[in-house]
Amino acid sequence: QDTLLQVRNLKKYFHTSGGTVKAVSDVTFDIKVGETLGIVGESGCGKSTMGRTILRLYDATEGEVLFEDKNVHKASTRELKKLRRDMQMIFQDPYASLNPRMTIGEIIGEAIDLHKLASGAKRKARIQELLTLVGLKPEHINRFPHEFSGGQRQRIGIARALAVEPKFIVCDEPISALDVSIQAQVINLLSDLQDKMELTYLFIAHDLSMVKHISDRVAVMYLGKIAELSESEELYANPLHPYTEALLSAIPIPDPEVERKRQRIVLKGDVPSPMNPPSGCHFRTRCPYAMESCTKIDPVWQEVKPDHFVACHLYNKDIMGADVRKIR
Ligand code: SF4
Ligand code: MG
Repeated sequence: QDTLLQVRNLKKYFHTSGGTVKAVSDVTFDIKVGETLGIVGESGCGKSTMGRTILRLYDATEGEVLFEDKNVHKASTRELKKLRRDMQMIFQDPYASLNPRMTIGEIIGEAIDLHKLASGAKRKARIQELLTLVGLKPEHINRFPHEFSGGQRQRIGIARALAVEPKFIVCDEPISALDVSIQAQVINLLSDLQDKMELTYLFIAHDLSMVKHISDRVAVMYLGKIAELSESEELYANPLHPYTEALLSAIPIPDPEVERKRQRIVLKGDVPSPMNPPSGCHFRTRCPYAMESCTKIDPVWQEVKPDHFVACHLYNKDIMGADVRKIR
């Protein structure tokens, strides 16, 4: 599978009066053409900031993002305009991202006009085609955002993103604000559109159960860093990082028999401030396995088996010697 996007040692710091917030703290991974990469982590772990920095909605503090081998953060104005078409975003709160004074037709039309993709009758037909594509009706073109339900508004946000025929979409918690009954519909719509239009997604969510069915691979983020990344099935079956283990242990299992025998891993304490992350491993203040070396040494990001990456000393022979954790 070809690589669409390469993220290399990406950092995004915000300098505030209270100090430097290390929102994204050295992340490296690839996104393959046509896949969905799920990004999971608690609020404040830097996942949204990472998504926005990949799209250059924020400037990177350090590191690189290569989209089809083009350096996103070094692109000229002209190159950036093309990249803005190829890379789109869907937001968590569709209502906040839709101008209440514009009709649906104007909102979607704005994206079409920006890239001069169609005009006149063709433009109108294109907008109606997009509305149909996302499960709305052509006659919705003259209505305003407030006339729609939360799920329908998210469909409008999706239609707007699709209007410019993107290759890649950052979906920033697109279902978190929706009723549970609507969540599956939006997920199914995104999957169908992905097949139809050969889209690649970075799908951000705050818990592992939300990304399970849509993601080909999943990355787990904690305090600005990626703790673990692998194919979904592999991650759910063989979690390696202690944080992933804990997150998975918190997802209820439908079978009550299995659920009763299961051990919940309850993490102590809270997530530390990204202004002052712990030395060494960022997770060490909450990790049940923390050792002395975890305080001193930043765990390396290593591929411990094909396409399964983890940043934890337990899997590092140089640190653990004969005690290195066995990998199934
Ligand atoms: Fe826990 Fe140490 Fe691994 Fe960090 S490096 S996850 S503190 S065992
Ligand atoms: Mg967020």
